[in-house]
Formats: sequence, structure tokens, C-alpha cells
Amino acid sequence: MNKGVVLVGGGTIGTAIAYYVSKLGNAQVTLLDRDYIGSGNTAAAASLITLSRSKKAIIPLVRETISAVRDMEELLDEPSRVMKVGSVHVVASETSMQSINNLMEVADSFDLSTTWLSAEEVKVKRPWLNTGNVMGGAFMKDDTVCLDIRNILKTKTKTKTKTKLNLWKN
Ligand SMILES: Cc1cc2nc3c(=O)[nH]c(=O)nc-3n(C[C@H](O)[C@H](O)[C@H](O)COP(=O)(O)OP(=O)(O)OC[C@H]3O[C@@H](n4cnc5c(N)ncnc54)[C@H](O)[C@@H]3O)c2cc1C
Repeated sequence: MNKGVVLVGGGTIGTAIAYYVSKLGNAQVTLLDRDYIGSGNTAAAASLITLSRSKKAIIPLVRETISAVRDMEELLDEPSRVMKVGSVHVVASETSMQSINNLMEVADSFDLSTTWLSAEEVKVKRPWLNTGNVMGGAFMKDDTVCLDIRNILKTKTKTKTKTKLNLWKN
């Protein structure tokens, strides 16, 4: 039997739930927002999709995000503007050295690409950075950025034409 699902809030979370529930195919999904899609916190996000996390439980979720983005590209036959650009975690104290070492250990255990950079190598990768106190940094090659977060939200909600998703401004 078809079910009706009503979701309130068209940010990252609401659009993701709408996408996954619509994909199940047995529910009529309605997404409500008091403003426009992506008008909340999502509009302020730097749009980084970071796989390198100190909390192990987050990494499979981020992997799923990247895989969902690829599925959406295929479904809609258009690019998502999500790109693997890598991130640099800078170390400027003994405390941050410890936490970055921990981050690299966790990343290694998930077979993510990690490279230790000297302060000079950090400067080459990020020339705009003031590397005065920098002791080095970890380059996490697999980290990703979405060049236009609104594009991915649009992509999530555009699937409405291929699934049973309604959008309403309330
Ligand atoms: C400066 C900044 C940078 C960030 N950078 C990153 C980053 O690089 N990577 C990352 O993963 N995360 C980042 N984040 C975090 C990320 O933006 C949030 O975790 C995420 O956007 C939260 O999504 P949300 O759907 O929960 O909330 P929101 O995006 O706030 O969406 C909530 C939606 O609900 C609607 N709404 C609220 N109340 C009602 C109502 N009563 N009726 C109808 N609609 C309603 C709002 O209009 C809004 O559209 C950043 C956050 C900030 C502030």
C-alpha cells in the first residue's frame, strides 16, 4: 500500500531523507520548507565532504554520501560538481600533532590515502597559508568538495520527476 510521508525542512537533512524515502518507491513524499530549498544552515556550509574523521562511525556515512551523489549523477545524467580535491590538516602544536596522528591512524584503517607533509610541503600545497608556526600537516587526498551545494540539493529534489516527490513552500 502507498504511504504518504510529509517532511518539514529542505536543508541537507530533509532533502536527503526525501531522496532516500522516494527511492524506496512505495511512498508519496512531500517536502515542505518555510523558505526555499537550502535556505537554512545549508546555505552557509563550506560544502566539504570530509572522509577523514577521528570518529570511525562517520566514515561509512560519508562514503554513502559520495556514492549517493554518483547515483544521482547517473539518474539525472548531469554532473554534480562534487570533486575530490583533498584537504590539509595543519599541525602547529604538540596537541594538534597528537590529534592529527590519531586522524591519520583512523584514515589508514579505512584505506584512505594519507600523506605527511613537512612545513615546506604544506606551503607548496597551500601558498596562501601563513606557515610561521606550522610543524607540518596531513594531506588527506580523498576529501571532497561540492562546488555548489545548491546544485546537489537541486539534484536531490529534481529526482521528484523520477520518483514520487512533491515540493511545497509553506
Ligand atoms: C559556516 C558553516 C560552515 C559549514 N561547513 C560545512 C561543511 O563544509 N561540510 C559539512 O558537512 N557541514 C558543514 N556545516 C554544517 C552543515 O551546514 C549543517 O550541518 C547542515 O546544513 C544542517 O542541515 P539541516 O538540514 O539540518 O538544517 P538546515 O540547512 O538549517 O535546514 C533546515 C530547513 O528547515 C526549514 N525550516 C525550519 N523551520 C521550519 C518550519 N517551521 N516550517 C518549514 N520549514 C522550516 C528552513 O527554512 C531550512 O531550509 C557548516 C555549517 C556552517 C554554519
